[in-house]
Amino acid sequence: MCLFCKIANKEIPAKIAAEDDDTIAFHDINPVAPTHVLVIPKKHITSLNDATEADQALLGKLIAVAQRVAAQEGRALEGFRTVINTGPNAGQSVFHIHVHVLGGRPMAWPPG
Ligand code: 5GP
Ligand code: ZN
Repeated sequence: MCLFCKIANKEIPAKIAAEDDDTIAFHDINPVAPTHVLVIPKKHITSLNDATEADQALLGKLIAVAQRVAAQEGRALEGFRTVINTGPNAGQSVFHIHVHVLGGRPMAWPPG
């Protein structure tokens, strides 16, 4: 079972920010911003490259949960960034799809 599946199953502890039947959001272990939360589906999907048409509603839910978490963390009005890293060029390091929710400081554009 992958690392994030183990977090979803509560086999590995994480600081949980939000949870519902399909998703779980938890604070990143190595935050790169004052708010850094990861939103994942409980179902294992390796990356955005591996999501299918049947996953469309779930992908939408990840984005909706990301916004709710940003609002819960007080970042809605000031703004926040949502990121999905896919594959080597994006630096994906955990192969269970996740949406980064980053906030609490200005974000550079273009990203590095
Ligand atoms: P990626 O580089 O794949 O887009 O993002 C993976 C993220 O997972 C990184 O920001 C990393 O800090 C985070 N991460 C890796 N292992 C753990 C862990 O065991 N617990 C938590 N909470 N975050 C983790
Ligand atoms: Zn997984």
